[in-house]
Amino acid sequence: MTRQSVAEIRPQVRKYGELTSLEVEVAKANDALLILPVGACEQHGDGLPLSTDSIRADHVAMAVAEELAGSTESPNAFVLPSIDYGVSPHHGNLPGTISLDPRTFVDIVTTVAGQLCDSGFTRILVVTGHGGNIAALGVAQQVLLSSHPDLAFAYSPVSGLATETTAQLPRTEVSGHSGESETSQMLAIDDSLVDSSRLTAGATALDELSPRARLTRTKSPSSAVTFDRYADNGVLGDPRTATVTAGEDILGEIIAKLVSYSKEMLRL
Ligand SMILES: [Zn+2]
Repeated sequence: MTRQSVAEIRPQVRKYGELTSLEVEVAKANDALLILPVGACEQHGDGLPLSTDSIRADHVAMAVAEELAGSTESPNAFVLPSIDYGVSPHHGNLPGTISLDPRTFVDIVTTVAGQLCDSGFTRILVVTGHGGNIAALGVAQQVLLSSHPDLAFAYSPVSGLATETTAQLPRTEVSGHSGESETSQMLAIDDSLVDSSRLTAGATALDELSPRARLTRTKSPSSAVTFDRYADNGVLGDPRTATVTAGEDILGEIIAKLVSYSKEMLRL
């Protein structure tokens, strides 16, 4: 029996997992960009859900694919099934965290990306909602550069892209995990996922930190501690000042930057 073929992908499809096997052939022929959201399942203080990083990565990836689909220049991006566990040993001392060994994480990313490349795709953009995955993504990139040199493989943080809007935020001296920015993003995505009555400040000032925890706030040289050493609730900053508007601004900046980068990748 001859295999059927299709000339086009149904216009509403944005997710790789919603393509049919026949449509994948079209996506490959069009050299589509594949966006891989990665996150984490880890403590996010008393008011944010464990999957906060996955939820933000999924949201951003879908918004980027949606914008690209609306642009006549490059209507050709699909969001891969996400990786919802990440590298989170630094959150392991607080309840709820499930962490992958970094080597396992690298294996998953390189296996997924490698198979996609072997099957004919050449452009993959990883969007990680969890900063703790960045080092492992760097390793994955090096592994892929050796095993699949023709694959354009890029990765990006979510919050870390929002330099301009984050600079406008009223933030405490120490700020970050489950703090003002991340909580604002979650409020903007879906406020029913935030238990606002339980939001509490964590570590907010450098002089509250133990010497070893304080040393981790120096960018380079790099060191690390488990998050219970910053504050009992594992939070950096004061999430009570988070707002929907700030979250929309932050997400808007992130999405715009990723759309513009994705267009560059589609021109490769
Ligand atoms: Zn997070």
